[in-house]
Amino acid sequence: MSMVSRRNFLKSVGISALGLGVGARLVAPQFRVLAQEGGAPTLSALTRFALGDLEVTVIQDGTTTFDPTIMGINADLADLTALLEANNLPTDQIRSTFNTTLVKAGDQLALLDTGLGAAQGGGRLLPTLNALGLTPEDITSVIFTHFHPDHIGGGVTNGALTFPNAVYHFPQAEWDFVQSVPSGSPIDGLVQATTGMLDLAMTAEQVNFYAAEAEIIPGISAVSAPGHTPGHTALLISSGDAQLLDMADAALQSVISLQRPDYYAQFDADGAAASATRVALLDRAATDGLQVLGYHFPFPGVGYVVKDGAGFRFVPMI
Ligand SMILES: [Zn+2]
Repeated sequence: MSMVSRRNFLKSVGISALGLGVGARLVAPQFRVLAQEGGAPTLSALTRFALGDLEVTVIQDGTTTFDPTIMGINADLADLTALLEANNLPTDQIRSTFNTTLVKAGDQLALLDTGLGAAQGGGRLLPTLNALGLTPEDITSVIFTHFHPDHIGGGVTNGALTFPNAVYHFPQAEWDFVQSVPSGSPIDGLVQATTGMLDLAMTAEQVNFYAAEAEIIPGISAVSAPGHTPGHTALLISSGDAQLLDMADAALQSVISLQRPDYYAQFDADGAAASATRVALLDRAATDGLQVLGYHFPFPGVGYVVKDGAGFRFVPMI
């Protein structure tokens, strides 16, 4: 793990960044966040379990709904509708969640993605940490999987790092991509939010740009998973023989993404690459019997993947 100083960062900015793939879309995810029951932000659902010597806590930052057709923009609509009906899911709006994860390893506390943040309608993460007896100052690492707002939104609060003592770990490939986006693009806002957050972390000398397949901190390694975004990265959490693969957004919906892994979403920057990555990760999880976590799967999104015909099926563990 190498800390990147501001000076080295400034040097690295000039290095050519990843280009956009052929057919890549610059799409900013939009969320219609569900009203929080009872009005004010409240505690979210959480679940905690052991993974070897590690303690894993999944915390739901918020929930949203989607028109399911945007989960399969290359789908045969009749097939997609039949799939939803066969699984007793609504065909107009399906619910999605934001499953952030806290990993405790000794005296280290790592947060994997930060939810939307209160400013964007999420924000159950912080009050839930508080209820667990934790403060933002207790978090030692924040590990981001990619730059979408439902993953980085909680990283900054009122113009300051939400987790002031944490190293902010960000995929190098994603940072290269963010730097390559021309100004005036449809994702300008996301680029500025990402750059602003990482600029704060760089100024505080609390940033680490991690390489594909790097061990980011002991027990948590990067698994390159491009397609959803160019530098999108899954995270393998390991302790002894116990392993949990946080797929992040390599699979967006527990039924559609698994049973029709070739269908890609409006949010996937490169649909073909996203599908190839999805199939590879799901096949690895099914073959190796890995526990997986889906960031947008029904809370807590932890379970197993089994092969099922030409696709896969998600079997919740909790
Ligand atoms: Zn997401």
